[in-house]
Amino acid sequence: MRYEIVAQLTTNSTLLILILISYLISHISYLTSHNKMKKLRVVVLGAGFGGLELTSMLSEAIGDNLNLTLIDQHDSFYFGFSKLDVMFGHKPADSVKIPYSSIVKPGVRFCKETITAIDPETRTVTTQSGTHEADVLVVALGANYNHGATPGLTEHGNEYYTFEGAEKLRDVIPNFKKGHAIVGVCGAPFKCPPAPSEAALMLHDYLATAGTRDACTISIVMPFGSPIPPSPDSSKALFKAFEERGIQFIPQHKVASLSANKAILDDGTEMPFDLFLGIPKHVAPDVVLQSGLAVDGWIPVDRQNLLTRFPNVYAIGDVTSVGTPKAGVFAEGAAKIAAASIIASYKGQQNEKGYTGVGSCYIEFGKGQVARVDVDFFSGPKPFGIHHDASEALTIDKEYFGSSRKARWFGR
Ligand SMILES: Cc1cc2nc3c(=O)[nH]c(=O)nc-3n(C[C@H](O)[C@H](O)[C@H](O)COP(=O)(O)OP(=O)(O)OC[C@H]3O[C@@H](n4cnc5c(N)ncnc54)[C@H](O)[C@@H]3O)c2cc1C
Repeated sequence: MRYEIVAQLTTNSTLLILILISYLISHISYLTSHNKMKKLRVVVLGAGFGGLELTSMLSEAIGDNLNLTLIDQHDSFYFGFSKLDVMFGHKPADSVKIPYSSIVKPGVRFCKETITAIDPETRTVTTQSGTHEADVLVVALGANYNHGATPGLTEHGNEYYTFEGAEKLRDVIPNFKKGHAIVGVCGAPFKCPPAPSEAALMLHDYLATAGTRDACTISIVMPFGSPIPPSPDSSKALFKAFEERGIQFIPQHKVASLSANKAILDDGTEMPFDLFLGIPKHVAPDVVLQSGLAVDGWIPVDRQNLLTRFPNVYAIGDVTSVGTPKAGVFAEGAAKIAAASIIASYKGQQNEKGYTGVGSCYIEFGKGQVARVDVDFFSGPKPFGIHHDASEALTIDKEYFGSSRKARWFGR
């Protein structure tokens, strides 16, 4: 009996040891094969809204097997809306800049370089410092401005769509004490369709605080029939705000040129001004136009996955003609789908979810009040938006929108 128990125990222990050994062998071979897996070389061009979101997602999902190079010509990021804060002196320029050097993410390396050529056939990128080769290339270079397309804009007007332009205006606006101010759009499409209305409302507040509002008039010239075409309710709320503040809205027109103190609209109408706050004509960056990626000025993409017509070359955000407005929220939404597609194909899977064109835009009404419009571009027969009235709660919502991105992209 004793011998039987001992024999049974010996058999059990042997079995246990065998199981343990086989587990160790399989685990070691898994680890070895996992480590041997080739790292995915991704090159992301542009560290704006789209590039930063895509980089964060890839690092989170496959950081250990990722060799991602994020390239931008600048050393820091800023939100588009912070240009309004800078031009009206609400915040110092340096306080809204977030340095790329603070990005510490598995598998990610940031390079401050200017991209001079893109070859989408070979997925090779040339910068002033050298070349980068990619298994997967993502173009997220945003939209640039063609000031020269509006004769007289540089000599006689101002613009607040570049950071430098917004910084310059911080010193120009305090000298505007009487006369006519025009917020003028020089071409469509343009970034963040609410931004001209926001600038006019914030200018009203600025002048009211300075005690000079009664000596000034404000007009907005816009190539749309209403301030936010997909949302009649948001447009109605803005029209009401313009009426209450005596701001004139001139629809369906662009500013074609400027002389010393006159804006000439696209139908030849002349509008005298003392201060011109311009939204310059937008264009894709030259390096994109020269790459063969663009058609009719912007990069066409497949809405399902944000792929261009070149294999393993994606494009996201303002540089595309995907069909949503040029805004950070939409660049971010597209980045999520492109990232999901890259991750799925790396894992040999299929990404089922396409780009829905849904996003929320905040609208500054001035006096610390922010409204929101939730827009859906693709699910219905035409784009539609749901309006949320301006409130202090939405001001906090917008602050969280910024701080949550800052934390996610920069770990701050
Ligand atoms: C006044 C104003 C207010 C705005 N308010 C809002 C808002 O409230 N909400 C919102 O969602 N959006 C807003 N926007 C729009 C928003 O800023 C842009 O739509 C968004 O940044 C687009 O993201 P993106 O990734 O496509 O491009 P971007 O964020 O523009 O990034 C492109 C990057 O590519 C880099 N780059 C370009 N060319 C080169 C090159 N040759 N070499 C190296 N790097 C290069 C640029 O330096 C840039 O960092 C606003 C814009 C403005 C001007």
